Amino acid sequence: MNRKYRRTVIAGNWKMNLLASDIKAFAEDMKKLAPRAKKCDTVICVPHVMIPAAAKAFKDIRVCVGAQNLNENPSGAYTGEVSAAQLRDLGVEYVIIGHSERRQYYGETNILVNKKVHAALESGLRPIVCVGESLAERELDITNERITLQVKTALANVSASEIRRVVIAYEPIWAIGTGKTATTEQAGEVCAVIRSVVRSLYGARTARSVSILYGGSMNEKNASSLLSHPDIDGGLIGGASLVPEKFATIINAANIE
Ligand code: PEP
Repeated sequence: MNRKYRRTVIAGNWKMNLLASDIKAFAEDMKKLAPRAKKCDTVICVPHVMIPAAAKAFKDIRVCVGAQNLNENPSGAYTGEVSAAQLRDLGVEYVIIGHSERRQYYGETNILVNKKVHAALESGLRPIVCVGESLAERELDITNERITLQVKTALANVSASEIRRVVIAYEPIWAIGTGKTATTEQAGEVCAVIRSVVRSLYGARTARSVSILYGGSMNEKNASSLLSHPDIDGGLIGGASLVPEKFATIINAANIE
């Protein structure tokens, strides 16, 4: 973390888990377990149908509501889809874009990710753009090339003022939901590569202000070490964000002086 230049962000990704009726108890637990989370922005990205319940329950505990996806079009005949404006209308502040599960199971490409980033920014949402390499790519030593392409494409035609509202999450695919975490050095190294790509596009001052998160089996045990790296500005957390005790421990680790 480097709080001098950028915000620390701890974002939970509930994926397709829990029910709207679980949210109130979750919020009450979080209030007890992580009461003074002032030094980081806390976000929980819930399934679309749970957004109203989350907006109501999270208001009192300083947790922002995030979504896990959006449609790239502003409105129209896209049955089953949800627009950026519809998310904003319900009080959503952040939206995950390009999660590896969406890339893998729903065929989302780098170009589509870029369109979704623009849709989010135009409606005032803060995109959390996910990038990451597969195990095969890491073994072939092409991680940096892969990440550079993903970041550059995601940010195509994003202006210098808009980039300040973008959060980037480095999520190695081999670490998501597998219990295998990147070491602090591995994660920090790729987050630094991402910052250097942002620097090449927007200059050093802007690059310094962009929050870059790590995601991939971050939990209550490894969070302190990962967050101690100056290029890791927070976490995108799946499994551990479903358990108040675990998620609160991560938030508290992000709130130390
Ligand atoms: C994720 O869903 O983005 C994620 C990192 O999941 P997990 O923490 O469970 O690996």
